[in-house]
Amino acid sequence: MSFESLGLAPALVRALAEIGYATPTSIQVEAIPLAMAGHDLLGGAQTGTGKTAAFALPMLHRLSTTSVAGAPRRIRALILTPTRELAVQVHDSIRTYGKHAKMVSTVIYGGAGMNPQLDALRRGVDILVATPGRLIDHLERGSVKLGDVEMLILDEADRMLDMGFMPAIKRILNKLPATRQTLLFSATFEDAIKKLAMEFMRNPREVQVAARNTVAETVTHIAHPVDGARKRDLLIDILSERYQDQILVFGKTKHGCNRLAEQLEKSGIKAVAIHGNKSQSQRLKALGDFKSGKARVLVATDVAARGLDIPQLPLVINFDLPMVAEDYVHRIGRTGRAGASGEAISLVSPDEGGLLRAIHRVLKADIVMTVVEGYAPSRQIRMGNDSASAGRPSGQRTPSRRTPHTTAAPRHAQAHAGAKAHPAAERRERRAVNAPRPLR
Ligand code: AMP
Repeated sequence: MSFESLGLAPALVRALAEIGYATPTSIQVEAIPLAMAGHDLLGGAQTGTGKTAAFALPMLHRLSTTSVAGAPRRIRALILTPTRELAVQVHDSIRTYGKHAKMVSTVIYGGAGMNPQLDALRRGVDILVATPGRLIDHLERGSVKLGDVEMLILDEADRMLDMGFMPAIKRILNKLPATRQTLLFSATFEDAIKKLAMEFMRNPREVQVAARNTVAETVTHIAHPVDGARKRDLLIDILSERYQDQILVFGKTKHGCNRLAEQLEKSGIKAVAIHGNKSQSQRLKALGDFKSGKARVLVATDVAARGLDIPQLPLVINFDLPMVAEDYVHRIGRTGRAGASGEAISLVSPDEGGLLRAIHRVLKADIVMTVVEGYAPSRQIRMGNDSASAGRPSGQRTPSRRTPHTTAAPRHAQAHAGAKAHPAAERRERRAVNAPRPLR
């Protein structure tokens, strides 16, 4: 299967060839023909599946093959995203894919000055990418008119609802022409999304690339039971051991993320934090530093990290478990992309046992629980009767598989007696042989 055989306009096929997309991903194979045939679409896909191109390509195809030369520009496609970062990334992708398609696009989001956005809108655009709140501001000012929109795309609809954007979305939907094509992408399909789809979509076709609420099968899930007060030291050990990798670390609070990034910096590990209290330019800079490798660790909250496009992340660490089990799925969507293997490590304190059990129920995949030597928690974490491996008290750990060289790097003891050593933990131990001493 090639992009050409999907019937996409030559200008798009050319741009895709230039950026090295050889074959469409599953969601692209499924969604593009349906969207090009004019159907409304419910797409079940998370970040990392190639969902952006799955909606952006048919959109660009439709606009570029039906545009009238010389006609004034008007907003013909609207894309709504939950966060500014995702809006910027989606817009970047549209520019990349539409490089030869002669379409004008812009992006508007909150937390940034109004004037540049007003200027861009005044000059005229075909495609508008927006976060809901800022779009409402523009609608109220009259700087955006949505009466000519032919195509609406809701990206990460589940997160928009989680973030309380439902009233804003309904207001926006009411400003759109009734005859339009609507594509809705979401990692999960809870009832509120289905209701939204029934109300605002016409006989939508469904495409799903992964079973609901699952993460890539190539991801290994590991939980390290540890007391809350010792999490930071354990994190530094793991980061020191994985000194060659770029790692995304999730924290619960904005303040906690900031403090953690500062503490990592003090330990000699280049880290940046990204969360809702940072200005847009600070967030983009942090993301840029991480992407360029200037910072090796990005510490983020769930909301700020939503939809971040960081290709091929080998490891995601949950410093704190997410309060909502589904957020684990979103977090881990950053690793194991496009068939690559990935690891998700969670540092779990005894009072987070309930959260871990909830995650395990949603995940429907094994979580390997290993106690890192020297970090056994003061209280046991039980997984109940499910299939994840139960953590045992430190006294029951199997003997350490310590090598003479691993004096300071973490050593993982298998938590469940008699179990086979997990390949990911083993790999990590092997790597630890050459790891530098953790910086404390
Ligand atoms: P997304 O799920 O849209 O965030 O895309 C995840 C990553 O996959 C991004 O870095 C895209 O640039 C990349 N990507 C999307 N489609 C393809 C494709 N057909 N071939 C190669 N890379 C792709």
